[in-house]
Amino acid sequence: NSAVFDAKNLRVKLVLLGDSGVGKSCIVLRFVRGQFDPTSKVTVGASFLSQTIALQDSTTVKFEIWDTAGQERYAALAPLYYRGAAASVIVYDITSIESFHKAQYWVKELQKHGNPGIVMALVGNKADLQENRTVSAGDASEYADKNGMFFIETSAKTADNINQLFEASTLNGLTELL
Ligand code: GDP
Ligand code: MG
Repeated sequence: NSAVFDAKNLRVKLVLLGDSGVGKSCIVLRFVRGQFDPTSKVTVGASFLSQTIALQDSTTVKFEIWDTAGQERYAALAPLYYRGAAASVIVYDITSIESFHKAQYWVKELQKHGNPGIVMALVGNKADLQENRTVSAGDASEYADKNGMFFIETSAKTADNINQLFEASTLNGLTELL
């Protein structure tokens, strides 16, 4: 008798939202290709990439990642990308308080118009720029808790916490959702 392994293969539509320049595209590039390109181009409209990870219990998770532009003039397009998304990663830059406020706008938008039960992660990127920090991890963490979000600080530049972001956002709720 051959053993039957009950491996699950999950597919997750994930959308990245946040102000232009906070590092969304760099986070995706780091996660998917393991690279950081300091001369990366501004995203026009949105771009799509996918990446599959294996969890400890042999479940695989294929992320279908929609990386949005973030500029005001594309804001009306955002629902096209977050509609039907099981997970969202809302990014701000720890050196920009404006970008943290913009992240809160996206949280409210998803609470109003996103998938009920959408998993939301709040991400403070550019954690390598500690000396220019204007958003405290404590404030962001408290805000995330209040809104039932997973919170993590990352650096696409140094790769710090990038894999953890995707793994943890999966484990924190997604597996139940699917
Ligand atoms: P997006 O508009 O949110 O997609 O932002 P990008 O990914 O295009 O990044 C905007 C700028 O921030 C680029 O100049 C990146 O090189 C820079 N950047 C992105 N992530 C990091 C990071 O973790 N640390 C630092 N120091 N710079 C970053
Ligand atoms: Mg971009």
